[in-house]
Amino acid sequence: MNIRDQLRQWHKNIPDLYHGSFRKKWIKALQRKSMKAAVTAKCQDCMCWQNTEVKECNIVTCPLWQYRPFANKNGEAETEVIAEVTEISKYEMVYAGTDNSQD
Ligand code: SF4
Repeated sequence: MNIRDQLRQWHKNIPDLYHGSFRKKWIKALQRKSMKAAVTAKCQDCMCWQNTEVKECNIVTCPLWQYRPFANKNGEAETEVIAEVTEISKYEMVYAGTDNSQD
Protein backbone atom coordinates (compact mmCIF):
# COMPACT_ATOMS: atom_id res chain seq x y z
CA MET A 1 0.00 0.00 0.00
CA ASN A 2 1.44 3.40 -0.90
CA ILE A 3 1.63 6.35 1.48
CA ARG A 4 -1.48 8.04 0.09
CA ASP A 5 -3.57 4.91 0.58
CA GLN A 6 -2.16 4.30 4.05
CA LEU A 7 -2.99 7.84 5.14
CA ARG A 8 -6.49 7.70 3.66
CA GLN A 9 -7.12 4.36 5.28
CA TRP A 10 -5.91 5.59 8.65
CA HIS A 11 -8.01 8.75 8.39
CA LYS A 12 -11.07 6.55 7.88
CA ASN A 13 -10.11 4.44 10.90
CA ILE A 14 -10.02 7.41 13.26
CA PRO A 15 -13.41 7.77 14.93
CA ASP A 16 -15.30 10.77 13.64
CA LEU A 17 -16.37 11.98 17.07
CA TYR A 18 -16.45 15.28 18.95
CA HIS A 19 -16.81 17.34 15.76
CA GLY A 20 -13.87 15.53 14.19
CA SER A 21 -11.46 16.48 16.96
CA PHE A 22 -9.47 13.20 16.78
CA ARG A 23 -9.04 13.56 13.02
CA LYS A 24 -8.19 17.27 13.25
CA LYS A 25 -5.48 16.53 15.84
CA TRP A 26 -3.95 13.83 13.65
CA ILE A 27 -3.99 16.10 10.57
CA LYS A 28 -2.36 18.89 12.56
CA ALA A 29 0.40 16.47 13.57
CA LEU A 30 0.85 15.25 10.00
CA GLN A 31 1.22 18.83 8.81
CA ARG A 32 4.00 19.35 11.40
CA LYS A 33 2.02 22.16 12.98
CA SER A 34 2.32 20.90 16.53
CA MET A 35 4.42 18.38 18.47
CA LYS A 36 1.77 18.49 21.19
CA ALA A 37 -0.84 17.40 18.64
CA ALA A 38 1.48 14.57 17.56
CA VAL A 39 1.80 13.29 21.13
CA THR A 40 -1.93 13.61 21.73
CA ALA A 41 -2.78 11.82 18.48
CA LYS A 42 -0.35 9.00 19.26
CA CYS A 43 -1.66 8.56 22.80
CA GLN A 44 -5.27 8.58 21.59
CA ASP A 45 -4.42 5.96 18.97
CA CYS A 46 -2.58 3.91 21.61
CA MET A 47 -5.56 3.94 23.97
CA CYS A 48 -8.25 3.32 21.33
CA TRP A 49 -9.45 6.92 21.37
CA GLN A 50 -10.35 6.88 25.06
CA ASN A 51 -9.05 10.06 26.64
CA THR A 52 -9.68 8.75 30.15
CA GLU A 53 -7.41 5.78 29.37
CA VAL A 54 -4.71 8.17 28.17
CA LYS A 55 -5.04 10.05 31.44
CA GLU A 56 -4.76 6.82 33.44
CA CYS A 57 -1.96 5.32 31.31
CA ASN A 58 0.53 3.52 33.53
CA ILE A 59 3.09 2.56 30.90
CA VAL A 60 5.77 4.57 32.67
CA THR A 61 8.49 3.23 30.38
CA CYS A 62 6.90 4.86 27.34
CA PRO A 63 8.95 7.88 26.24
CA LEU A 64 5.71 9.82 25.77
CA TRP A 65 4.43 9.13 29.27
CA GLN A 66 5.69 12.41 30.73
CA TYR A 67 4.11 14.31 27.83
CA ARG A 68 0.77 12.55 27.49
CA PRO A 69 -2.28 14.80 27.53
CA PHE A 70 -5.02 14.89 30.16
CA ALA A 71 -2.65 13.67 32.89
CA ASN A 72 -2.11 15.31 36.21
CA LYS A 73 1.38 16.50 36.87
CA ASN A 74 3.64 14.08 38.70
CA GLY A 75 3.39 13.97 42.44
CA GLU A 76 6.45 14.66 44.54
CA ALA A 77 7.18 10.93 45.00
CA GLU A 78 7.05 10.23 41.25
CA THR A 79 9.27 13.19 40.46
CA GLU A 80 11.80 11.97 43.02
CA VAL A 81 11.83 8.42 41.60
CA ILE A 82 12.26 9.66 38.03
CA ALA A 83 15.13 11.93 39.05
CA GLU A 84 16.79 9.08 40.95
CA VAL A 85 16.47 6.56 38.11
CA THR A 86 17.69 8.94 35.43
CA GLU A 87 20.68 9.88 37.59
CA ILE A 88 21.58 6.23 38.22
CA SER A 89 21.20 5.42 34.50
CA LYS A 90 23.54 8.26 33.62
CA TYR A 91 26.28 6.89 35.90
CA GLU A 92 25.75 3.35 34.66
CA MET A 93 26.19 4.49 31.04
CA VAL A 94 29.40 6.34 31.90
CA TYR A 95 30.70 3.31 33.78
CA ALA A 96 29.80 0.97 30.90
CA GLY A 97 31.30 3.34 28.35
CA THR A 98 28.00 3.81 26.54
CA ASP A 99 27.41 7.41 27.51
CA ASN A 100 26.64 9.30 24.34
CA SER A 101 25.52 12.50 26.02
CA GLN A 102 28.45 14.39 24.45
CA ASP A 103 27.40 13.39 20.92
S1 SF4 B 1 2.12 7.53 27.11
FE1 SF4 B 1 0.72 5.82 27.37
S2 SF4 B 1 -0.98 6.35 26.04
FE2 SF4 B 1 0.72 7.59 25.37
S3 SF4 B 1 1.69 6.38 23.74
FE3 SF4 B 1 2.73 5.91 25.66
S4 SF4 B 1 1.74 4.07 26.41
FE4 SF4 B 1 0.39 5.00 24.88
